[in-house]
Parts: sequence; structure tokens; C-alpha cells
Amino acid sequence: MKTNQTFDVVIVGNGVLGLSLALTLVRRKLRVALVGESNRPWAASTAAGAMLGCFGEVTSTLLKSKYGRLKHEFAVRAVGLWDDWLNELGDGLSIDDIRVADGTVVIHNTVGYSKIDDVNFEAIRKSLIEYNEQFEDINPADVKWLDPDSGSRPAKAIYIPNENAINSIKLLQDLEKSFITYGGTLITDSGIRIESNAGVVDALVLDSGERLISNKIVLAAGVKSQDLLDNIPDVAERIPRLVSGYGVSALVSTKDGTTPNSVIRTPNRAFACGLHLLPRSKGEVYIGATNVISPKVVDAPLIEDVIFLLECAHRQVRKDLSKGNINCIQVGNRPVSLDGFPLLGETDLNGLWIMTGTYRDGLTLSPYLSREMAKLICGEVADSDLEMFKPVRSPIQPLTRDEVIQETVEHMLATGYESDWRIPAGWHNLIEYNLHTEYEKFVKNFDSVYTPPAELLEASTKDRNILKMLYKYYNAVRQSELV
Ligand SMILES: Cc1cc2nc3c(=O)[nH]c(=O)nc-3n(C[C@H](O)[C@H](O)[C@H](O)COP(=O)(O)OP(=O)(O)OC[C@H]3O[C@@H](n4cnc5c(N)ncnc54)[C@H](O)[C@@H]3O)c2cc1C
Repeated sequence: MKTNQTFDVVIVGNGVLGLSLALTLVRRKLRVALVGESNRPWAASTAAGAMLGCFGEVTSTLLKSKYGRLKHEFAVRAVGLWDDWLNELGDGLSIDDIRVADGTVVIHNTVGYSKIDDVNFEAIRKSLIEYNEQFEDINPADVKWLDPDSGSRPAKAIYIPNENAINSIKLLQDLEKSFITYGGTLITDSGIRIESNAGVVDALVLDSGERLISNKIVLAAGVKSQDLLDNIPDVAERIPRLVSGYGVSALVSTKDGTTPNSVIRTPNRAFACGLHLLPRSKGEVYIGATNVISPKVVDAPLIEDVIFLLECAHRQVRKDLSKGNINCIQVGNRPVSLDGFPLLGETDLNGLWIMTGTYRDGLTLSPYLSREMAKLICGEVADSDLEMFKPVRSPIQPLTRDEVIQETVEHMLATGYESDWRIPAGWHNLIEYNLHTEYEKFVKNFDSVYTPPAELLEASTKDRNILKMLYKYYNAVRQSELV
């Protein structure tokens, strides 16, 4: 590569968001460099199923606040763009290879926790009706591929025909091909430092020592965007830090070579995106996914997470999955901000943009976010709703403190139920009461105003690093409010 090349825009990170934005910008005839290692270390995109989950992702908590409703709205808008987005990828690229599932079946079984599963299943139905989205109440016994353990069989199910899934690996390959065809510059390296001059960004320094010159740099390196931000602490301190929503998924060849036609999933539960299984390729299914908040990226799966995932799939979806072959166990790091919402827009350093923090549905959102971010970067009017998720901000607090505590307790209990625990008589209320009291005491001692989202609250009770991050960020926000 030539040294000190100049670009209109440099994008750091070659996951689905970086690639989608790079393609959108290069189609606008800008000179665009996209930086990332070809094996995509720590990426979320490669471990995703990936469901284009919109209504299936709805939870009662999501719809409680304007922020959550707006995120849902983003997903509705994004799903509406996917057909054109895939069609326009380019000649010779096969859309049929990318789209792998025909609709989604949401099952409601008794494995989960009533206060989460019952409520979220109804929230999904209600949202489908509200948006006038096509769906059908079906008898789970009619879903031929389903064959769960009898003790875990679903009592209800709905079929959402327009909620599909894609092969994320194929998508990344095709986005990359298309980017190159349009004249984009792919740089196989890592960005290690951002340089600025007189308050304006002017170069990205690569691991190789090369510098990419541009006054527009976009951080789209998923959870690792934080490493680059940490080199510019004044800019970083009022941006909610990124932590990893570490997740495990598996690719399994089925014993009889069959796969379902659609996604089969539960509602979101136990701090995760619900159990889901979908066809990946001939005779192969994708099983996802766990979600554990971690202060650092994780690159090897924990045995307990693999056991949990496979046990759930075999028990809740199809018994003979246990006779299949594991082709691959995948690990991904979802980019999760400290308030749980995306980071979208320009920072306090002129020309430094961020596009990450998409947590569980960055893949679904990618055509919409890349279109709108491209407009912002080009100085055009974009969807004003993105403003709500501008990166430099006070923590978004969609729920009251009591609601967060209640949600944390319920998801902890749901984790127990999904792990098939047996609670001795008389202990149900005691466990709930003690969890509630512990979390209440914890948040009260921690901060008088701000409360992190449920999964971060739970993680911060166990990991002092997360606690310190929250503390530092809340203090920085307070200091800036005093100025
Ligand atoms: C198990 C799992 C299942 C999921 N399922 C779904 C789903 O069904 N539907 C859905 O919509 N979403 C799903 N998600 C979430 C979704 O994958 C993410 O929201 C999305 O992929 C984030 O994309 P990204 O491009 O921002 O980040 P990433 O995919 O993490 O990509 C970041 C890229 O930046 C690169 N990078 C890191 N540091 C540097 C550096 N210094 N310089 C250059 N490059 C760098 C990384 O190697 C990586 O390739 C899932 C996530 C996981 C983990």
C-alpha cells in the first residue's frame, strides 16, 4: 500500500456496519477506505444468525419508553429496506444464498419465566397488530420440524411471514465484493490511533505505521471502537463506554439432513435474544445465542455457555439435535454501550464519527443506519430521530430505578428457569425477595440518580471493572453539566 493516502472518508471496522456504510458512501462516488483484518477478530457480525428480527425482538420493556419505541421503529424501517438492499448488491451475487429462512415462528413454551415469556409473547402479538403486520396464530404441533422434549413443548406459536434471516458470512463477503467493484479501497490492517489538528480529525494511524489521511473518520469497529476512543480521553469521557455482549452460537449438521424452513425462536429472555434456530445451509442449522456482559472482548467460548446453548436447543426445539454434528462453535462480541443504546453521530472532535453500540440487532438495522449515517457524513439532512442516539450524551434512562430493579430480578429468575432449576417449596418468594433487596441496596449505594440497564446492573454486581466504568462515565457527565 502507498503511504499517506488521502480519502474522503476512512472507516475503521469491517463488520456489517462498517461495510454497509462504506458501500453506501462509495456508491456516492466518494473515495472511501475501509480498514479491518480479513479474519474479523472479535466481530459480532460473523457469529450472528442472522435474524432480521423486528417484531420477534419486541419486549414489553422495549415498548415502555420513547427510546425503546424508536429503536423498534428503526428496525421496522430497516426491514422494509432489505429486499432492495440485497437486490442492489450487484451482478452475479446470489440473493437466494444470502436469505436463508422463510419467515419466523415464535414459540411460547413453559421453559421460561412467566413474567417475561408470557408478557413478551403478548407484546410481540400486540405490536404486530398495531403495525398491521401480517402474522398468523398457529398450532405449534403443526410446525413439523419442531420436536422438543415433552416437558418443554410450546403451547402457543405465531408465524410472521415477513421476518426472515440471512447468512451473515455470505452477506459480509458480498458487501465486500460490491464495495471493491464500486472502487472502494479495502485495507487489511488495524487502526491504532486517531490524529487530529486544531480540533479536526486528520489521520488514522495503522498498525503497520501507515497513515490514512482524511478529515472524516468513522469508528465502526464494534466493541473495539473503545480502544481507539481511549487514545483521545477528552473526547471519550462523555460517550457511554462500550462493553461486550459476549455471545456463543453454533452451526450443527442435523442427523437426518433436514432443516426447518423458517426461524424458530422464543421471545427475548434471560438477558439474551431468546433461543433461536434457523436453516443455514443444506442440512445445517444455526443455533443462537447466549449473551453475557463482559468488560473485555472474549475470543474463546466458555464450556458452560456451549452446554447451556446446546442443551436449550435440544430440549426446546428438537430432541435429535443431540445426534447431529457440531461444525463450528462461534463467538461474537456485541457492541453494548453503558446505557444500552446505539452510538450514532459525530463526536466532540470535528470529523470523528461513531456508528456502533447496536447490541442485538445491528445486522437488521444495517441498511437503514448506513443510509442515514451516510447522509449525515455528507452534510445532508438525515432522519432527525438519529439525534436521540448521538454519542456524546448523558445516560439514556428509559426506565425508572424500580423498573430496572424489577427487570433485573425477573431476568435472573428467567436464567434459572431456562437452566431447568428446581426450587424447593417455600423458596420462590424468598429468592425473588432477596434478589430484589440486594439490587436495591446496590444501586442506592452506587449512584443517587443514574441506574444502568438491567444486564449492566447485574454485571456490575459481579465485576468491579464494569462498576468503575459506570462510575467514571456518570461522574464525567455530572462534571460537564456543572460547567
Ligand atoms: C451470537 C450473536 C448473535 C446475533 N444475532 C443477531 C441477529 O440475529 N440479528 C441481528 O440483527 N443482530 C444480531 N447480533 C448483533 C449483531 O451481530 C451486531 O449488532 C452487529 O453485527 C454489529 O456490527 P458491527 O459492524 O458494528 O460490529 P462487528 O461485527 O463487531 O464488527 C467490527 C469489526 O471491526 C474490526 N475491528 C476491531 N478493531 C479494529 C481496529 N482497531 N481496526 C480495524 N478494524 C477493527 C473487527 O475485527 C470486526 O470485523 C448478534 C450478535 C451475536 C454476538
